[in-house]
Amino acid sequence: MNERREEIRVALNRVKNEIPDYVTLIVVTKTFPVSDVEILYELGERNFGENRDDEGVEKSTILPKDSIWHFQGNLQSKKIRSIVSWADFIHSLDKASHASKINEIAHSIGKIQKVFIQVKLDSGLGSDDRSGINPSDFNQFLVELEGLKNIEIVGVMGVAPLGADPAPGFELLYKLSLKLQSIKPGATFISAGMSGDFPVALQFGATHIRIGSSILGTR
Ligand SMILES: *Cc1c(COP(=O)(O)O)cnc(C)c1O
Repeated sequence: MNERREEIRVALNRVKNEIPDYVTLIVVTKTFPVSDVEILYELGERNFGENRDDEGVEKSTILPKDSIWHFQGNLQSKKIRSIVSWADFIHSLDKASHASKINEIAHSIGKIQKVFIQVKLDSGLGSDDRSGINPSDFNQFLVELEGLKNIEIVGVMGVAPLGADPAPGFELLYKLSLKLQSIKPGATFISAGMSGDFPVALQFGATHIRIGSSILGTR
């Protein structure tokens, strides 16, 4: 345990040295044990990212209440009720039907659910394996979300295409963020950048970066 703590501490510091203070580091703890999240908490981290509802339920129940939980996995309709019960932020909203379900459930428990709109950043590259709305549907999607009073759109989120230069995708995300802010001035967050590409995401205005393997090791 002490050895693991030292390993995490060193890796965490290395990453944090490359991130300005105004950027929120979300440590992606998916697939790693609760004991690792507890170490991160002791080291001062508060923002944790999970891709699966069951792991999020387990870890958020055990960690202290001032931990902040980010759901960033694929949303499934039947999991939304549970996810809304523990996730402070949902990063992966990309369907209007999911938005109305989130809104309905959040309303029923008296919560305003914070969400990022996930945008597909590789639509021009022929691959179709990333979630997110198509950039060309962005305005229409905003219209569809109007009037959902228990959802607060906080910003945009994107995952850069695998094996390609991440810069064009992050630039696109930045432009969409400006478009969003022209309609909703408070929605200033940009969730972008993972272990392999976060320095580039920072160049394009990322406010929230999601890092797993550089801190916790390979999964
Ligand atoms: C797993 C994951 C991350 C973290 O990836 P690393 O390469 O381990 O840093 C970030 N964002 C999303 C959406 C993920 O699924």
